[in-house]
Amino acid sequence: MTASCIFCRIVTRESAAEIEYEDEEVLAFKDIYPKAPVHLLIIPKRHIESLAVLEADDAALLGKCLFVARKLGEAHGVAQRGYRVNCHSGPEGGQVVYHLHFHFLAGRRGS
Ligand code: AMP
Ligand code: ZN
Repeated sequence: MTASCIFCRIVTRESAAEIEYEDEEVLAFKDIYPKAPVHLLIIPKRHIESLAVLEADDAALLGKCLFVARKLGEAHGVAQRGYRVNCHSGPEGGQVVYHLHFHFLAGRRGS
C-alpha cells in the first residue's frame, strides 16, 4: 500500500470506485473517463509501479489479472465479439497512474 497512490486507495476503499470484480489479489473497477462503452481497469491489489519493475515472482499475479479479463468478458457478454486489453508502461507508453493496471475495453469495433 502506497498512501499517495490512487489505485491503492481504491483497494482500501479510501477512494470510491465502481468495483466490478474482487478477489484476494485482484480488483477490477470502472475507469472514470471511459474511452469505450465498457472500460474497466484490472489491477493487482499489491502495489507494483509498472511492467518496467516487474519481478519474476510477479508474473503469476499478472496472469491472474488476465484471467479476470476473461471473466469480465463473459460477464459483459462480449467474449465472442471480443475486447481489447491494454497495459501502458512508462512516459512514452502513456502511463499516467503508476500502479500497474490493465485496461479492459469493449463494446465497439477496435475498442
Ligand atoms: P494510464 O496510466 O495511461 O493507463 O491511465 C490511467 C487510467 O486510470 C485512465 O484511463 C484514467 O481515466 C483512469 N483513472 C484515473 N483515476 C481513476 C480513478 N480514481 N478511478 C477510476 N479510474 C481512474
Ligand atoms: Zn498503488
